[in-house]
This record gives sequence, C-alpha cells and structure tokens, in this order.
Amino acid sequence: MKLSIYNTLSRGKEIFEPLHPPSVGMYVCGPTVYGDPHLGHARPAITFDLVFRYLKHLGYRVRYVRNITDVGHLEADRDFGEDKISKKARLEQLEPMEVVQMYTNEYRLKMIQLNVLPPSIEPSASGHIIEQQALVEKILENGFAYEKKGSVYFDVEKYARDHQYGKLSGRKIEDLLANTRELEKQQEKNSPLDFAIWKNADPEHLMRWPSRWGEGFPGWHVECSVMSSKYLGAEFDIHGGGMDLLFPHHECEIAQTVAGYGKEAVRYWMHNNMVTLNGQKMGKSLGNAISLEQFFSGDHELLEKGYHPMTIRFFMLQAHYRSPLDFSNEALQAAEKGLERLFDGMETIGKVTPAEKSSVDLDKLEKYFFEAMDDDFNSPIAISHLFDGIKTINSAAAGKESMTENDLGKCRQFYHMAVRDILGLVPEKRDSGEQELTGELIKLLLQMRIDARKNKDFDMADRIRDEMARLGVEVMDTKDGFEWKLKR
Ligand code: ZN
Repeated sequence: MKLSIYNTLSRGKEIFEPLHPPSVGMYVCGPTVYGDPHLGHARPAITFDLVFRYLKHLGYRVRYVRNITDVGHLEADRDFGEDKISKKARLEQLEPMEVVQMYTNEYRLKMIQLNVLPPSIEPSASGHIIEQQALVEKILENGFAYEKKGSVYFDVEKYARDHQYGKLSGRKIEDLLANTRELEKQQEKNSPLDFAIWKNADPEHLMRWPSRWGEGFPGWHVECSVMSSKYLGAEFDIHGGGMDLLFPHHECEIAQTVAGYGKEAVRYWMHNNMVTLNGQKMGKSLGNAISLEQFFSGDHELLEKGYHPMTIRFFMLQAHYRSPLDFSNEALQAAEKGLERLFDGMETIGKVTPAEKSSVDLDKLEKYFFEAMDDDFNSPIAISHLFDGIKTINSAAAGKESMTENDLGKCRQFYHMAVRDILGLVPEKRDSGEQELTGELIKLLLQMRIDARKNKDFDMADRIRDEMARLGVEVMDTKDGFEWKLKR
C-alpha cells in the first residue's frame, strides 16, 4: 500500500514520496493569536493532526512545524489599518506580548481538549524578526521588491514576468489586476497586486522593530516563508493550511521563497475545506461565530446543548478534509450517538466469548481501513469500515458470528490503534476515570489542610488553599469540613 496525497499545486493525487525518508517535514499555518479559538481553528488543527498521526503510524519521523502568528496582522486588510493586537493591548492596558501569551495559552488548552498533538516546533513570528528582515533584504537585492516610505513591497508584476504568479490558486494575473483596479488610489504601492513584506509602523502601532527601513513590522506572508525554511530546509515535504489561506497567503509565500531563495520549497500543498454553521459562513458580523469554549459548554443561543470535544473531533473526521463541513445541532447529536456506538462496540470486544473458529475476516477490515487512510487520508470511509467491524463484533457478542481468542485480541489491538492512535479519539470513560482520581486527590489535599490547621500550621494550610486556588480549585469552608468546585 502506498499513501497518496491530493496536491493542490498539481490538482491531483500523487503517491507520497518524502524527500529524505524516513524523515518528513511538514509546515502548517497556525493561528493568529487574537480572539477566542473557534471552529475555524479546529478544522486545520484536527486535519493536520490526523496527517501527523498517520505519517507517524506509517513509520515516518515527522518534524511538524506550526507557527503562531503574533505580530498582529489584520484579517480584512493585512497591509493597512489598525493592528488588532495593539488595539486590544491599548484597551486593556496590557503589554502586547501579554495579549499574545493569553491567547496562545487559550489556543493550546483547546487543542489539548481536542486531543490535537502539539507540533514538534511552534515558532512565533515575533521571535523571528531578524530572519524575516534578512529575507526582505534578499528579495530587495534580487530586484523583486521596492522601498516606499519605510515600507518594502513585493513587486508582483516583475516577478510574474518570469514566474507563474497564481499557479497554486489557479488565478491569472490579468484577472487579478482587473478586479483590484479600484483600490489603486488609496495605496502607496506601485500596483494593487503588490504586497508589503515590511511595513512601516504608524506612531500608535505598539508592536514594532527597528530596521534599516525604519521602525516597522514584517508582512504576514513573510513569517511562513522564513520559519518553514529555517526549520525544514530549503525544500520540504508538506505545507498545509485552510483553503482560505490559498490566496493570497500561500501564493505570496511561493513568490517570496522563489524571489528570495531562488526556488520553490514545498513538494505537497494540502488544504482543508471550510466550516459552515447551519449552511452559513461563520463570522462575528454574522452573529454566528461560536467559540470552542461555547461549543463545549453549550453557552450560546444557537446551541441546544454543550458538545464534548471528542464529539467535535469525531464530527470533523466524519467528513473528508477537502469537503465542506456544515455544523448543526442535529448533525452534532448524530455524531455524538455514532461515537458512543463506536466506543460501546470497542468495549463489547471484551465481552465476546471466544470460539474455536472464526467466522469473520479481520484482515479484510484492516485492509479496508488502511486503504481508505492511504487514499488521501479518507477518514470518513475509514470510519465507515470501523462501523462495519462493530456490527460484526456485536453479532459475535450475540452469538451470530464467532471469533477465536486470537482474533479477539487482534481486533482489540486494531481498534485501539485505529481509533485512539490514528484518529485520536479517546473514550470519555477514560476522562471520567481521571476525574475520579482528581476528585480523590483534591479531597486528600483538603484533608491535609484540615490537619495542618489542627496542628496550628496556618502557613501550610493557607499555602494549600492558595495553590489550589491558583490551579482553579475553589475551596469553601463549611461547618463540617469543606466543599470544593472547579472554576471553569
Ligand atoms: Zn502561513
């Protein structure tokens, strides 16, 4: 079996052949750390977590780099306008890096809840200013950029004379020009297609770094060209991200990399499709932007209830990453039931009485599962085979099929590998076991606090209470002892 990957660049599936097997380099555009993580953050994270896990399962040594965009670029117009992070920092009197850290922490916490593995390297744009300035300098040297009023712009038309600008997104430079002409007046660039690779900072802009062009900050696209090549080399295997990043972000990345380093870096471009809610695009202005926290708690008017992070993960994996995915209460509740059926079935394996002979063919199940995964990570088909297997297990438990001891063991191992290791789905049952243990440990600590007070060791008693408060355990003293609860 050979893994095939749909390459956005060639618009077709290709057999995956890494540059330096068994090593694989993978770069995925990470979050802009501003605002609560929402569903739009979850889909690329889960998509490339599946890719990461599956490549590792196939025996590859994967270096997975996912960046943190923290120099505060705007979403709507990345070259102009007020910087989001600066704005938030001014409003709340926080250091810009404090805002960055706050949202980064929140993002990481949500990723843990979704059982998304941490990347091998998580570089931040603000930590690579010198390298970004070096690339801007190289692009200038090679004649593909020009300086204007402290900003440096990439000269798209000059680049397009010898290179195919638009090759990834399938856009033509003439069409792009025709569509953007009306913007021309308000901009200081030579052409509306040009984009800032270094931007002069306005006086009120808080995140700024000195450069030979004046104080400013790097253009958004530059960080990915720089950090991918720094950690994965001049050429590497996989670059991923959401389809919304295809243009202009990834198109500009290619142009910068070629203009600066002389050749293209990426061998396989992968893009996940977008998420909609009740058939609508999500967005703050549409009033349907639901944060992951709200999905988990159910605290939003569009949600009938809260959904476990594993339900969200399972729901996403039930669609192929290149298909659009629509969220609704009905669909989520169906996913919730489906996931329960899957976990119940896995538990049933332990309840089947072993037989002398097997009437089922486990090898086929495994073969179908891996064929689906090898076909561009087709998780919905792979999951459907897992459900076929569950039907067989349930039949065996009902005495309608038979499985030997050996087959039952193989079956348990296979489901563990497929469901937990590759799909990253963990039964809630394990969670509840951990919760029980946590509860016992909290009680133990609180009992020790009471003992400390009895012994007049008030320092110790206070320390236990304060440290627990710091960890989010609220302790209330009562007549008979104590009560506690976890602050969410
Ligand atoms: Zn990027």
